[in-house]
Amino acid sequence: MKCTICGMDINEKNYNFNEGAFANKNSIDNIMYCPFCGVNKEYLSENSEIIEVKANLLDEKTLQILDHAVKLELFNGDFYRTAASKAKDNEIKKMFEALSVIETFHSKVHQRLGGFTKVPELNKVSYDKYNSDSALLKLAKQKEEHAISYYEKYKNEVNDNNLVAIFEALSIVEREHIILVEE
Ligand SMILES: [Zn+2]
Repeated sequence: MKCTICGMDINEKNYNFNEGAFANKNSIDNIMYCPFCGVNKEYLSENSEIIEVKANLLDEKTLQILDHAVKLELFNGDFYRTAASKAKDNEIKKMFEALSVIETFHSKVHQRLGGFTKVPELNKVSYDKYNSDSALLKLAKQKEEHAISYYEKYKNEVNDNNLVAIFEALSIVEREHIILVEE
């Protein structure tokens, strides 16, 4: 089985990766989402097709939107990594760790789509003042909301229909993250 969004092959060795980032868990007989980028079943394919975007046909504005999406997801991945190290509750820690991997994976998807070769260097953000699990969860929710509104806004401004579909798929993933961090 292949994920049409991130292109990863899903098999018996990896179907349960990043479990902490999902409310419902995959089983080998029932794969409900991609364990790498988190998209749901409707984006998984039995016949190896992926949703392709030709980077050389993207206009300047679309490339800029993708460049910004790379950074947004990198920042969110970085936030979750820090949040995981700070969280006191073990379940929350595991969830943050898994979310960190997924968001960082999203940034890699955008990087590939835009044909960008370099990972951008980001300024380090300090999360020192978020000193409780509930403060971290609250910030997580804000970051997910920001990502959703980014995808919702800019899916209408990119010049490639497949990219619109990818932004929609990822925005559904971020919506599911909100449900997780609200619990
Ligand atoms: Zn995927």
